[in-house]
Amino acid sequence: MPEVQTNKPGGKVAGFDCDTLVVGGGISGLAAALTLKRKGVDVRLLESRGYLGGAVRTVRDQGYLLEFGPNSLMVRPEDELREALVELGLSDRILPASPLSRNRYVVKGGSLFPVPMSLPSFFRTPLLSWQGRMSILREWRVPPKNDGQEETLSHFVRRRLGEEPLQYFIDPFVKGVYASHPDLLSVEAAFPLLARLEQEHGGLIRGGIRTYLKRRKTESAVFRGMFSFEGGMSVLAEAIGAKLGQDVGTSVDVIKYTRLEDGFRVALMYDETEYYMTSRNLILATSAGQAADLLGGDADGPSAELNAIPYAPVTIAYAGFSKEQVTHPLDGFGLLCPSVENRKILGVVFSSSLFPGRAPDGKVLLTVFVGGMTGQKIANAFDEDLERIVLKELAELLGTGGKPEFFRIHRWEKAIPQYVLGHNEAVRTIRKKLPPGLSLAGNYLDGISLARAYASGVRAAEEIVASGRRLPA
Ligand SMILES: Cc1cc2nc3c(=O)[nH]c(=O)nc-3n(C[C@H](O)[C@H](O)[C@H](O)COP(=O)(O)OP(=O)(O)OC[C@H]3O[C@@H](n4cnc5c(N)ncnc54)[C@H](O)[C@@H]3O)c2cc1C
Repeated sequence: MPEVQTNKPGGKVAGFDCDTLVVGGGISGLAAALTLKRKGVDVRLLESRGYLGGAVRTVRDQGYLLEFGPNSLMVRPEDELREALVELGLSDRILPASPLSRNRYVVKGGSLFPVPMSLPSFFRTPLLSWQGRMSILREWRVPPKNDGQEETLSHFVRRRLGEEPLQYFIDPFVKGVYASHPDLLSVEAAFPLLARLEQEHGGLIRGGIRTYLKRRKTESAVFRGMFSFEGGMSVLAEAIGAKLGQDVGTSVDVIKYTRLEDGFRVALMYDETEYYMTSRNLILATSAGQAADLLGGDADGPSAELNAIPYAPVTIAYAGFSKEQVTHPLDGFGLLCPSVENRKILGVVFSSSLFPGRAPDGKVLLTVFVGGMTGQKIANAFDEDLERIVLKELAELLGTGGKPEFFRIHRWEKAIPQYVLGHNEAVRTIRKKLPPGLSLAGNYLDGISLARAYASGVRAAEEIVASGRRLPA
């Protein structure tokens, strides 16, 4: 195993190969390992793929820079990831999103309209009728719900804002973030901020204004708004990987776990050979389903609850055109398609407008998202069918003409965990069922954004440290 030392020089620590073993080299596992290493814990990380980053993956192909996973990142002042970016020396490599990205288009009747971002545009937008506008303005008079019952996002939005804002603002936003539908998600679990604005401030408008004013005071100039890195999002994973150095092993698949009296033993496959490794503590930083598989043999463990967390499939098509082939100015972040519009795609990111260097000179890159919870069939369509569907949608919505000079598809069978009704309760049960020394990290626990996935890794590491189950150095 050239890339990871199972035994540090000087031999095993108190009979174990390491103090804490992290399984999974996505952003949550990297966060856990980095946090532990900073605290002086003897930690190793194993990742089954040949690269670090998991969903975070940047690929260069024929002069285009493709993001297979997140295309950008946002951090709030309180996010652990923000501190890590500074410590990793990445603040200098930040690439802020173009100011154009404030423009976000929503499809209505086959045409694109920008989401209103100011009061005058709110009163002019064709995305809402006058009734729709009035139902939003009346929101501040809607009393908070106090029955303690969990609500779907659509129920919450209908109750507070009305049907039209649900259809043309919230539904497309949910497609863009969760690849889902507002009927399927729990407002408390998937959008805790919305639930808090209602509970703490009495409403969304009131709470939104107060939060915005407070945030403006604490926002830093460097981390304002959305950003990526020169070189793409993989820069983040590579920077953490470099800090972890020899303590990381890639192309190592953890296939089995066994509880020992005071620790854990895992079986792993590397280069078609089976190895074993023991640790005092274990962090599983995988998807919920992968954690369920590993814990499957443990009758008292949370496998059933982990397996019950649904994931949306997402297929991504990358299309590169010459600028002259596209009639739309692509002056924005991208477009989203509300469910009521019955389009075949979820949305499009105008990648080459968002960040420089995403397409060769004179070309544009469009990143098209397909599938999600309500489009499982189309997510699984054959490549040729998918290409035909995507190009037809692009021609209708953005006026692209002819064949693209570049076309590539990437598929995520299980892209985004779904925070459905009962999710928070399920996560509490999962955590309760974990044996001492075992922690979980991942985007199905504390939020799906990169910043929240990172926070889940920090939390798992801190749980281990707080448990006091440390091995002598
Ligand atoms: C298409 C897409 C677009 C996104 N866009 C954005 C965005 O724009 N902004 C944003 O903030 N977030 C975005 N996200 C969400 C964000 O990228 C993810 O939530 C986050 O990267 C997940 O990190 P993770 O560590 O929880 O999981 P993962 O990245 O899935 O990492 C888990 C890792 O565990 C490894 N693993 C699993 N089982 C084993 C095993 N048995 N042995 C060894 N290794 C194992 C896997 O190979 C994987 O690398 C997007 C996600 C996707 C899929």
